[in-house]
Amino acid sequence: MATHEVLNQPPPLEVNLFAADRALRDAVEREGARWARAQLLELGQLAGSRAAQAWAAQANENPPRLRTHDRYGNRADEVEFHPAWHELMRVAVAHGIHSLPWEEDREGAHVARAALMFLDAECEQGHGCPISMTYSAVPALRRQPELAREWEPRVATRSYDPRSLPAAQKSGALIGMAMTEKQGGSDVRANTTRAVRDGEAWRLTGHKWFCSAPMSDAFLVLAQAPGGLSCFLLPRWTPDGERNRFFLQRLKDKLGNRSNASSEVELDGAWAQLVGEEGRGVPAILEMVNHTRLDCVIGAAAVLRQAQWQAAHHCAHRSAFGKRLIEQPLMRNVLADLCVESEAALLLMVRLARAYDRPEESAFRRIATAVSKYWVCKRAPAGVGEALECLGGNGYVEESGLPRLYREAPLNSIWEGSGNVICLDVLRALAKEPPAVEALLAELREARGADRRLDAHVDATEALLARAEEGQARRLVEALALALQGTLLVLHGPPEVADAFCASRLAGDWGRTLGTLPRGVDLPALLDRAQPAVA
Ligand SMILES: Cc1cc2nc3c(=O)[nH]c(=O)nc-3n(C[C@H](O)[C@H](O)[C@H](O)COP(=O)(O)OP(=O)(O)OC[C@H]3O[C@@H](n4cnc5c(N)ncnc54)[C@H](O)[C@@H]3O)c2cc1C
Repeated sequence: MATHEVLNQPPPLEVNLFAADRALRDAVEREGARWARAQLLELGQLAGSRAAQAWAAQANENPPRLRTHDRYGNRADEVEFHPAWHELMRVAVAHGIHSLPWEEDREGAHVARAALMFLDAECEQGHGCPISMTYSAVPALRRQPELAREWEPRVATRSYDPRSLPAAQKSGALIGMAMTEKQGGSDVRANTTRAVRDGEAWRLTGHKWFCSAPMSDAFLVLAQAPGGLSCFLLPRWTPDGERNRFFLQRLKDKLGNRSNASSEVELDGAWAQLVGEEGRGVPAILEMVNHTRLDCVIGAAAVLRQAQWQAAHHCAHRSAFGKRLIEQPLMRNVLADLCVESEAALLLMVRLARAYDRPEESAFRRIATAVSKYWVCKRAPAGVGEALECLGGNGYVEESGLPRLYREAPLNSIWEGSGNVICLDVLRALAKEPPAVEALLAELREARGADRRLDAHVDATEALLARAEEGQARRLVEALALALQGTLLVLHGPPEVADAFCASRLAGDWGRTLGTLPRGVDLPALLDRAQPAVA
């Protein structure tokens, strides 16, 4: 309108998310995935583009719709997605985020894939769900070699094929997971879905309360067999080319993750095949769950990172009270603290991914996955909320993209084991898996002598380990996570980030909100890192 000029509004942030991220570039190189640089640059360019940002917004503004029946009244059990969702899925599959480490045995493959997943999740989180479940299903399937031989080649293609057809007729397949029932999710032993033998196969009857990505081509499902809780692979179509007896009841109306479909499903004698041993369903599906937990860490770190970029970018361009916000002393502290939080999350995520590349690190992976899943996911909502506030009123408006990040932020802490359940898992490892504890402690001792604040924190954490008790488990896991992050930052991070982390998070010279870093930290250097680096 002619009444005013548009002033003091920042330009849209459009950067190559990989090229702009010094911490990610360094971590990927250090942890053995330098070879993936060209692909990371390519995805970083696309994921940070306005085109991809538009897909992300559209896929969430136009959530999936369930079509239970066709026009003639026949069961259809299909989910219809906006074209923007299909674009996001096509790109993720084309980059092998659902399969890269299973395509060939290459050093650093999980690190490369983690970095790709991170960039993709910075753009949009909902479609990461089927991508993550497909990637994670493979190690569980390998417990049943003939099933792995049949399904792995279907998964390990770079072709996204959303058609509803038997998997053998498609150019690529996706795999989901259905464990959770009405009466209990964390406590899967309370599952009541029944499995009965049908020749070489099985028939499953029951109800699943959460089954995300129900358009997938097959699902890993837990059900009670005569020999106990067991894991099954349930395809959407039976071997005779019929639709399986897998009926979608409704889609959940969720806080966030709105682009992704999460359904309630009735299994009415659905055809399925056993994965692993009868009665050993939990260990079988845990193979999958450990990988999806890694992806929770990646997703939470990505949400934090993207929110932090958006906050720093806004403040670099917006002025108030005569100065750019990034020059205002209080805002400098907030942005610097956000940067410390997101770099600590990022380093931990990449280190954890490397443990998935190395069979010899399976003990470290066992405990570090749980510790990282608890902590990084818990930090995301606070970090995103603070970043949102940096944009003032604009941050509360959908178009800024921050509300979507804010709604995503709590989810990674809930699914794949909620906070308390993850802490109990850490206690279980402490009690029953001495090699896991030893591996973690060995890692924490690597930086011994480099920073007295870190040394003191590690000593205090070891003392906590010696008297671990259930009601105090959050304290313990928090201390372990901070010790891990501190070790990584002191060994590999830039000195200004390591110093600010040790002073605030380890030595306790810090307040109860972000933006309370103590005097003496190197704010100019931290603020330089807080903004996307322009190559
Ligand atoms: C968007 C979305 C998508 C999902 N998709 C899937 C899917 O595709 N497949 C699937 O199988 N599931 C899925 N889930 C389910 C999810 O994994 C479960 O909701 C989650 O594991 C928690 O289980 P629950 O909801 O039954 O909560 P509960 O198990 O009832 O737990 C409730 C709370 O109690 C805590 N708690 C539980 N036990 C203890 C204890 N012993 N001590 C202290 N605290 C405890 C938990 O940490 C949690 O905070 C999805 C969930 C969401 C939100």
